[in-house]
Amino acid sequence: MRIAIIGSGYVGLVAGTCFADSGNDVACVDIDERKIRMLQDGQVPIYEPGLEELIRKNVKEKRLTFTTNLAEGVANAQAVFIAVGTPEGESGEADLQYVIAAAQAVGRAIKQYTVVVDKSTVPVGTADKVREAIAKVTSVEFDVVSNPEFLKEGAALDDFFKPDRVVIGADTERARNIMGELYAPFVRTENPILFMDTRSAELTKYAANAMLATRISFMNDVSALCEKVGADVDFVRKGLGADKRIGYPFLFPGVGYGGSCFPKDVKALVTTAREYGLELDLLRAVERTNERQKKLLVNKAVKHYGTLEGKKFGVWGLAFKPKTDDMREAPSIEVIEGLIGKGAQVIAHDPVASHAAKRVFGDRIRYAELPYDALEGVDGLFVVTEWNEFRHPDFARMKSLMKSPVVFDGRNVFQPARMREQGFTYFGIGRR
Ligand code: NAD
Repeated sequence: MRIAIIGSGYVGLVAGTCFADSGNDVACVDIDERKIRMLQDGQVPIYEPGLEELIRKNVKEKRLTFTTNLAEGVANAQAVFIAVGTPEGESGEADLQYVIAAAQAVGRAIKQYTVVVDKSTVPVGTADKVREAIAKVTSVEFDVVSNPEFLKEGAALDDFFKPDRVVIGADTERARNIMGELYAPFVRTENPILFMDTRSAELTKYAANAMLATRISFMNDVSALCEKVGADVDFVRKGLGADKRIGYPFLFPGVGYGGSCFPKDVKALVTTAREYGLELDLLRAVERTNERQKKLLVNKAVKHYGTLEGKKFGVWGLAFKPKTDDMREAPSIEVIEGLIGKGAQVIAHDPVASHAAKRVFGDRIRYAELPYDALEGVDGLFVVTEWNEFRHPDFARMKSLMKSPVVFDGRNVFQPARMREQGFTYFGIGRR
């Protein structure tokens, strides 16, 4: 099948590459000339494990192309995916300007019946708006389908090739058939394609992210209580997750959720509900807990040192989670801003996100090439992202480099007892 993907970011690039890998002819479109030029030159603008190799293979086999010319990419495509950003608007709503602009451009470019697919995370009712925007500029037949994406950055290829489920909101048989055919190669292991109406599909995506964010904030509340009552959240987490009705995923306490999805999607869902006269109190509490959690490490540091003025800290981990270079709403931002705002100096290391972090912090902090380079002469270390390579460091080497061996472990990657044995002053989240 011939496909066009509008928006070649984390979602568009992964979807386009995976569709190409299953034999389709895919054009990835973006308005960002720098991004497209990089892709045409064989470079990948984002870090996602395995993506570079898969792009290279599909480009070589001539199934995957990159262009800034939307009309050229869309011409003759049977399905066009809109995968542009939907950032947070001024009052918490999802900003749909990029989706609508893309829809209008697609409308002007289609030449025969086309399925236009909303891949971006968009509020309930957006498929109708996209339909209207296209209908205004073309008389060609088309259908609008909602097909939200559930991939996780860091494991995006695996998630796309083997999704737990594919959600497709489509109102016509013709569109359902095309979508079913496209996704057939990815659901051979009995994972379902769930067909539904567009509004239900749109809401499914927000409800899924809101549920996951709720689990995280719930555990962060439990961890706060653990600290008060002298319990250890790691035992509590294991005891909870063993219950099959609850399960283990997303029960890790930490420095709060971040990233390009949970914060904005929880806000957008609260805002949508409010537009319909419904106050989602539970989700507002989820957000409040998250805000508190992002400040927790700095508060612990202030309590420990008295003042942070003139102190120097190492930070391990900048990306909002491991295996990505995505810095959007990363908890490291709140932590580092908190530290430098209180007069401390920061030297940070991240295996892949330093270049993205430079756009956030510029030269207000220093960047270390290697983890140990971020420890020289520091008054303490903050672990903010649980990259695997931070889990088993050489503690003796750490101690010899640090001015004072104090660790604020925002992801509970180290064992408190072991840290104390090694002579560290250790602060975790919700641990004894
Ligand atoms: P992104 O910012 O990485 O990429 C969006 C791309 O769209 C950018 O490269 C931008 O230049 C391009 N663009 C904007 N307007 C355009 C236009 N008119 N024509 C062509 N290109 C245009 O965003 P992302 O992280 O890939 O997210 C895209 C959508 O998918 C969002 O709605 C997001 O909520 C959703 N989503 C993201 C993830 C994730 O993990 N990142 C997961 C699931 C869903």
